[in-house]
Amino acid sequence: MYVKKFEDLSKDDLGIAGGKGANLGELTQAGIPVPPGFVVTSKTYDKFMRDTGIFSKVMDILDQVDINNTKELQEAAEKIKAIIIETPIPDGISTYITEAYNQLSERVGEEDGADVAIRSSATAEDLPEASFAGQQDTFLHVQGLDNVIEYVRKCWASLFEARAIFYREENNFEHSQVYIAVVVQQMVDSDKAGVMFTVNPSTGENIALIEGSWGLGESVVSGSVTPDNYAVDKETNEVLNVTISDKKTMFTNEEGGTSIQVDVPEDLRKERVLSDEELLELVAMAKRVEGHYGKPQDTEWAFHDGNLFLLQSRPITTLGDSKKEEAEEEEVDLEVLIRGLGASPGLASGTVKVILSLDELDKVQEGDVMVTTMTTPDMVPAMKRATGIVTDEGGVTCHAAIISRELGIPCVVGTGDATTTLKENDEVTADGKKGLVYKGIIKGAESEEASAGAIQVSATPLITVTEVKANVSMAEAAPKAAATGADGVGLLRTEHMMLSTGVHPRKFILDGEEDKLVDTIAEGVLKVADEFYPKPVWYRTLDAPTDEFITLEGGENEPREHNPMLGWRGIRRELDEPEILKAEFKAIKKLHDKGYTNIGIMIPLSQHPSELRRAKELCREVGMEPQVDVEFGMMVEIPAAAILIDEYIAEGIDFVSLGTNDLTQYTLAVDRNNEFVAKHYREEHPAVMALIERTIKHCAAAGVTCSICGQAGSVPHIVEKLVKFGITSVSSNTDAVEEVRKTVARAEKKIMLDAARKQL
Ligand code: PEP
Ligand code: MG
Repeated sequence: MYVKKFEDLSKDDLGIAGGKGANLGELTQAGIPVPPGFVVTSKTYDKFMRDTGIFSKVMDILDQVDINNTKELQEAAEKIKAIIIETPIPDGISTYITEAYNQLSERVGEEDGADVAIRSSATAEDLPEASFAGQQDTFLHVQGLDNVIEYVRKCWASLFEARAIFYREENNFEHSQVYIAVVVQQMVDSDKAGVMFTVNPSTGENIALIEGSWGLGESVVSGSVTPDNYAVDKETNEVLNVTISDKKTMFTNEEGGTSIQVDVPEDLRKERVLSDEELLELVAMAKRVEGHYGKPQDTEWAFHDGNLFLLQSRPITTLGDSKKEEAEEEEVDLEVLIRGLGASPGLASGTVKVILSLDELDKVQEGDVMVTTMTTPDMVPAMKRATGIVTDEGGVTCHAAIISRELGIPCVVGTGDATTTLKENDEVTADGKKGLVYKGIIKGAESEEASAGAIQVSATPLITVTEVKANVSMAEAAPKAAATGADGVGLLRTEHMMLSTGVHPRKFILDGEEDKLVDTIAEGVLKVADEFYPKPVWYRTLDAPTDEFITLEGGENEPREHNPMLGWRGIRRELDEPEILKAEFKAIKKLHDKGYTNIGIMIPLSQHPSELRRAKELCREVGMEPQVDVEFGMMVEIPAAAILIDEYIAEGIDFVSLGTNDLTQYTLAVDRNNEFVAKHYREEHPAVMALIERTIKHCAAAGVTCSICGQAGSVPHIVEKLVKFGITSVSSNTDAVEEVRKTVARAEKKIMLDAARKQL
């Protein structure tokens, strides 16, 4: 009654075990191997509250609280939670929990106590199916009896979070009629894990498709490993296909519970993960879980010490009817030739053309899939003809990735060896979302670049307070970017525009043709400024890496640097070549003089405010007063700039834009172009996020506009955090503008709602 094992629960126990507990019981009873555990039922909570006499104390506090007075509500919540957490659990109750936990530990063979997840689930006696906001606390990796009891009590206390009290009052639930059940379940530290479709999701055939790899399932689910693939006929149990991959990486649990990514031991990399017996066990589980839910399932499974567990199960979503969705479903059947990183979404089928030197570019014809070591600016014309692009090298912010996204061409980067694995004239399909290249053509994907490039504009544009802008690199991409309804251009990557002219800017200066350089820049920028007028366009002064500019006419004298990413680029380079920077300022002045006052100036890669001061002096020298005649801002791309942001603000800036591509590489010491370290490149690393948050908050405090134009600004779940931090605008890739706009709108609404609730 007070504590029940999953085996002893079913869906009829919703009232005492909560939704989660009842479901786990139901699955266990159906013979589906979920990790074992027990539920501290709502009766236990009730007994604890009454036997200790705190129930009436709590109800008295609740009777007196004015829930519309936020401060009072908070204080009452804190007081109640403290009472629950500080009142000892009577022996008569704790023995039940102790017994159940000790039994579980024994069962899973852990002498120091089982490593468990503790989850709470609120229920109401007369309305067991009601769902309650605010009581879904989960604590992972809890070990040892004392800790288990402490977290169970924390779950109980969570019933009296301020928002939970408020919610119940608002929805007329009696506080005294709401209870809480707590699920305690083993955490599975798997030796091997993966996913399984219980039927072939594209054809509906009764064939289980299984992917598996070493360690925790995270490696398969996140796509960071190429897993083994298996297909098993569910009627005859015949193993139809076994594809063994080279599995380079895996996740394991560290002491203390968090998962870490490590290399797969050499002897396991090419070892088959699942034996025939294990496949059959999986298939038996597939049948049971399918039978239980009455529908084909998409599952996550794990083996620990030879025992199979079902970790997650959801119905396979019905196939969509669009051509693209059909094409995407069909891919499941195709053989994966090579894996890399998805750099520009969409499917592209075509004939492989391997480009190993620039004089081979003509081989790429309309509709071909261009395969090369790494793209360079000279390849852009050929890239435009290609239906898809695949590279050996690079990460998601490399040249190929940026240009492909802008051109709307599906692209896979960082495959390691596409130029040798994919053969000339092979027919393949590149999946720029998943980062895969399949053998063969997918119907409907041959002309995919057209649809990937087409931008969907919502019928009723969303209004957001946080501006949503677009990044533009090539002038010709501006109309498409403007068609998204973006609120301006948050980053005009001028160096790409310069690269597309084929001539090094220094050549103009050396040839005494400064005017021509000014005109060339002004012409390119005009196309963008015109397209967006009167919305703002932030012109970023040249960020010219030596290894990219070396290929230009007049670029022969570029220094050969060991590490161009840490070398002569950005504003430091421009201050060494002030004639080029001044030519850029003159071009902007020329456009301002023509009325295009919507153009602002932004300096890249600054590491000290003195660079900002010097750049402003040069701007003044061409007759434009920064911050008066022209908006003047900077990118925050180096930790030093984030740390010194107050000094920059004191120096005088109109706006800041977070260049998270570089900020990530310089904070983590991870070369953004190097596929060997790509797995360590993480914008969400806490150190990067801390610098981002700091920059946004300091700018907000000083009233300085703060934006983002790195790739992180195209990733919805990161954008959501930035809006919470108080960012004033987000500039994303053209293809992501609509999605980012929706994310921003949702995040803003949530902030308003939370604030309104606090006011109540
Ligand atoms: C950045 O570093 O985030 C950025 C937007 O600049 P780029 O990618 O051009 O270096
Ligand atoms: Mg940058």
